[in-house]
Amino acid sequence: MTMKELHALFLEHPTISTDTRKITENCLFFALKGPNFNGNAFAQSALDNGAAYAIIDEEEFKTSDRFLLFEDVLATLQQLATYHRNYSKARIVSLTGSNGKTTTKELINAVISKKYDTIATKGNLNNHIGVPLTLLSIKEDTEIAIVEMGANHKKEIEFLCGIAQPDFGYITNFGKAHLEGFGGVEGVIQGKSELYDYLIGHNKYVFLNADDDIQKEKLASYTKKMGFSSSDHQYYNIKFLGADPYVAVEVEGTQIQTQLVGKYNFSNCCAAILMGKYFNVPIEDIKSAIEGYRPENNRSQLLSKNGFDIILDAYNANPTSMRAALENFDLMKAKRKTLIIGDMFELGNTAAEEHQAIADFANELQFDETYLVGENFYATKTSLNKFKSFDALKEHLMKNPLEKASMLIKGSRGMALERVLEVL
Ligand code: ATP
Ligand code: MG
Repeated sequence: MTMKELHALFLEHPTISTDTRKITENCLFFALKGPNFNGNAFAQSALDNGAAYAIIDEEEFKTSDRFLLFEDVLATLQQLATYHRNYSKARIVSLTGSNGKTTTKELINAVISKKYDTIATKGNLNNHIGVPLTLLSIKEDTEIAIVEMGANHKKEIEFLCGIAQPDFGYITNFGKAHLEGFGGVEGVIQGKSELYDYLIGHNKYVFLNADDDIQKEKLASYTKKMGFSSSDHQYYNIKFLGADPYVAVEVEGTQIQTQLVGKYNFSNCCAAILMGKYFNVPIEDIKSAIEGYRPENNRSQLLSKNGFDIILDAYNANPTSMRAALENFDLMKAKRKTLIIGDMFELGNTAAEEHQAIADFANELQFDETYLVGENFYATKTSLNKFKSFDALKEHLMKNPLEKASMLIKGSRGMALERVLEVL
């Protein structure tokens, strides 16, 4: 079967499933392989549950015409996505970066969908499977697709650009995330910049955070671009009004009061405003889109519990976002401040150094109380309270309840620091 034929079949059956627990009537089932499973073995069950066809890559499982045999299921999914992307009229905006991709993607989608038919990456489906699935969710009338691309090693963004072939791109930031896979900060910059390499190589449009010196320098001689800045007046000017606790900005004389905590969300908002401007979304609509967006999944959420005002940022953490969160917490006005931070994962052989730097920084900031949690923080040299595990912290807090305070809770996903809420 050719890609053209498979695509024609997809147009008749435009829902894709890769999980037999989530089969919808008439979908196409792609029998992907994982480290611990072989999708081919589930193809029959997918068909029994309502899938129209199953795309497989092991001949022994083919027992009827409803099994479509290809050489490699994953590659077929990716090729179908590219075929569909080229078939559709939608323009593709893609974004990557170390921090803030999902937040920025949601903000951009909120803004652009005020004027256009859009689709966007669902949740955090930003890898070699998620990107194709996003492209395959483009409908007949979709005008703009907003595609999040994640990476934890070099050449990954280049590969995803090959699949999505973006018309526009934006990098949120270059930070200390996934240092293990990228081999250091230089590696991160190169890896994320593969998006620029693709866009510049294909004469496509770049959106630029001109408050970021690295981006500004990298794009200095490229002309197909539009940038924002809070200070450099050569670029679209967006003023930072404050973040105590919610980010507020001013653009073209209009004030926008967001529901996003933390100064680090300023650039995320700016990117969405800039793209709204580029795509001619009226400023009142940009304002209402951004003001209406609330983050999900423990991403910098503001909560109150038993007299504690809490910034819960337990979704993920790396040295850059940790430092940004601490700086932001320091700027906030509050009578009493308590900091609880947990280990940052995937730092490879820089883990000891990076945890020490954050412990030292937390020590400098002198919050009323500070608790460090996790094996890496436990190994730092510090006079701050440190605990080897969440359970150890919990035991301590049960015996020594915290005083009411404003609180910042942040750590890598695996630390699941939202559990602190149970002890308050
Ligand atoms: P993932 O790698 O999981 O896809 P992401 O890049 O999509 O993450 P978000 O989910 O939007 O990022 O945000 C995760 C956390 O990153 C936030 O809760 C916040 O602490 C931090 N963060 C968001 N934006 C920025 C930014 N521009 N600079 C630094 N840290 C940020
Ligand atoms: Mg994300």
